[in-house]
Amino acid sequence: MSSNRYILKGGNILGTTQSDVLIANGVIEKIASVIADDSAVTMDVTGSVVLPGLVDLHTHLREPGREDSETVLSASKAGAKGGFSALSAMANTSPVADTAGVVEQVFRLGHEAGLVDVFPIGAVTQGLKGEQLSEIGAMADSLARVRVFSDDGNCVFDPLVMRRALEYIKKFDGVIAQHAQEPRLTVGAQMNEGNISATLGLKGWPAIAEEAIIARDVLLADHVNSRLHICHVTTAGGVEIIRWAKARGIQVSAEVTPHHLLLTDELARSYDPIFKVNPPLRTTADVMALREALADGTIDIVATDHAPHSSETKDCEWQEASFGMIGLETALSIVVKTMVQTGLLDWAGVADRMSSAPARIGRYTEQGRNLLVGSAAHITVIDPTKNWTVDRDLVLSKSRNTPYHGYELPGLVTHTFFGGHPTLIDSKIMDKAAM
Ligand SMILES: [Zn+2]
Repeated sequence: MSSNRYILKGGNILGTTQSDVLIANGVIEKIASVIADDSAVTMDVTGSVVLPGLVDLHTHLREPGREDSETVLSASKAGAKGGFSALSAMANTSPVADTAGVVEQVFRLGHEAGLVDVFPIGAVTQGLKGEQLSEIGAMADSLARVRVFSDDGNCVFDPLVMRRALEYIKKFDGVIAQHAQEPRLTVGAQMNEGNISATLGLKGWPAIAEEAIIARDVLLADHVNSRLHICHVTTAGGVEIIRWAKARGIQVSAEVTPHHLLLTDELARSYDPIFKVNPPLRTTADVMALREALADGTIDIVATDHAPHSSETKDCEWQEASFGMIGLETALSIVVKTMVQTGLLDWAGVADRMSSAPARIGRYTEQGRNLLVGSAAHITVIDPTKNWTVDRDLVLSKSRNTPYHGYELPGLVTHTFFGGHPTLIDSKIMDKAAM
C-alpha cells in the first residue's frame, strides 16, 4: 500500500461521537461526520471504537540475549496486533541495558522493525545487582533519551541506592520504576502466601513483601521530592499505601497488569506453571481492590509485563518453571472484560489508563495524544461487539505462554496505526515492506 492517506469511516471516537477520521502525512488531518477523499484508502470501522494508540510501560522484549523467546521485531508485531503503538523495553536483557550502548542498540532495533515506538528502559544498577548505579546520565543523554529506569525482575533493595537513584534522575525529569519485592521475605517463594499455598505445599509470597517496599519507597520519594513508579501492584494493602501517598502529594504512579485484574491464586491448584508469575496471582479480594483502584485513578495505568518464555523454561514442574506470561495481544480484551463490561471504566477511561497516562509517566511526548487534528496518527480501533478465542498457536509473540489459551474474550482489535501507517488492518499485521 503506497498511499499515505487513509479514512477511518464511521468509528466512534472514545466510544462516543461517530466520525470519519482522515489520516495523512503521519497526522490526523481532519475529523468530521462525513469525509470524502478519492485519493485516500477508506476503511469501514462503523460500530467500532477509535482510541489513541496504546502505550505499554512494561514489556520484556528479550533482545539482546534471549532471541529464542522474543525479539524486538516479534514483540513489535505482537504489540501492533494488540493495538499498541509504543512499548517500553525492560532492561533485564543479556547484556543488561545498563549502558548507553545497549539502550541505543534496542532503540535502533525498534526503529528498524518500524511497527511501534520502542522506548528502552535503563537499568538502575549495573548488571541489575542492586549495588552500583548504572550509567543513568549517559543513557538519558543517549539517542534513546531514556527517562524510565528499572531493575525490574529484581527489586532495588538497598534504600541508599534507591535514594541516590531517585536523586539522580531529577535533573532530567526521569522516574524510577520499582519492582517492589522484599527479597528476604520471598526467598524461594513460588506463589501467593495464603490458604492455597499451604494446601499445595508451595512456598508462599506474602503480600507484605510487596507492601513493605512500596511504603519505604513512597517515603523516600517524598523525602527527596522525586518521581517513583510502582510496577505491577498486586495487593489491596499496596493500593492503600499508594492512595495515602497520593493524598499527601507524593509523586508516585502505579501500574496493574491485565492478569492481576482477572486471575487469582486459585488457578495454582492446577499446578500448571502457565499461572506462575512474579509478582504472583493473589486473591479475589485483591483483584477487586485493584479494579477499584484503577477505576478511581489510585492505580494510574495498565501495563502488560509481557514476559515471553520458551517452552523449555515453562513446560516443566511448577518449582522449576520460569515466572511470567505473555500479554500484549490480549491486554485490551482483558481490560474490556474486567473494567468496561463491569461498568468500572468507560472508553475515555481506557484511553487514559492505556495510552495517555503511560505516555505521560514515561515522558513519551508524541504518544498518548488526544485524537485531535494535528496530532501524530497513533490510533487503535477495537470492535467491542466481536468476541474472539485465544489460541496460543496463533500468537505473534515467539513464545506461547499465554494463560488464556481457549478463553473467549470480548473486543477485537481490528486496526492499529503507527505514525500514520497502518500496522494492523482487519486484524492482520502489515509487514513494513507493505507499508
Ligand atoms: Zn517485575
